[in-house]
Amino acid sequence: MKIRIDKEACVGNARCAAISEVLYPLDDDGYISVTEVDVPAGMESLAKRGARSCPERVITIVEDDQ
Ligand code: SF4
Repeated sequence: MKIRIDKEACVGNARCAAISEVLYPLDDDGYISVTEVDVPAGMESLAKRGARSCPERVITIVEDDQ
């Protein structure tokens, strides 16, 4: 599973990082600092919760078979 993030559209409210700072690291200004993350085994549900938490809907979950 991968996380893809439309970084340019991030508004920096840090909802994703509140779910997981590991999967959704922020830069010094509080915006998401990554555009693609490989989700470690066992962190899939956290990844999905983080994606759902983004009010801007800029986080996409990509399953392995896609
Ligand atoms: S929740 Fe969405 S808008 Fe907020 S910091 Fe994370 S990616 Fe950016």
